[in-house]
Amino acid sequence: MKCVQCGTQNEPQNKFCIECGTALVESTAQKYVIPYSRLVGQEVPVLFLFDELGRIAGIVNPSQKIIDEHKMDGVLQKVVILEPTGQVKSKGSEIDTLLTFIQQSKEFLGEKYNADEFSQMSPGDLKKVYLHLFEQILEYKSKRQNSLKSSNS
Ligand SMILES: [Zn+2]
Repeated sequence: MKCVQCGTQNEPQNKFCIECGTALVESTAQKYVIPYSRLVGQEVPVLFLFDELGRIAGIVNPSQKIIDEHKMDGVLQKVVILEPTGQVKSKGSEIDTLLTFIQQSKEFLGEKYNADEFSQMSPGDLKKVYLHLFEQILEYKSKRQNSLKSSNS
């Protein structure tokens, strides 16, 4: 492990730097945070859920622990991370991704998915459809969790 103080490469089992004596700890941030730049263009799992204020929040690359904690009220989905400008390299793949989301969401809600219905829509309109479905799923999940909570108590 590399010493954060002097940069000396230490053996993994060392607790202190052999050069300067600094404690060798891997910070939580170093372990789990992936720089945004490395995620751009990548398909990563995002866990969506309602925050305390009822807004949709997304946790990028959630750990298995977080996924387990939100099994009942969250929705885990693969998302392609966009450039900070919001641009996507290929329009076609954005539409494909949205259509996949819509199809999965409809299946979850037990609704029929008709590809023709969406084939002429712009990405902007598809996003609206998707977000609407998405809200329905989150509401459904949080209701189900609430009823489980109250039946347990
Ligand atoms: Zn050192």
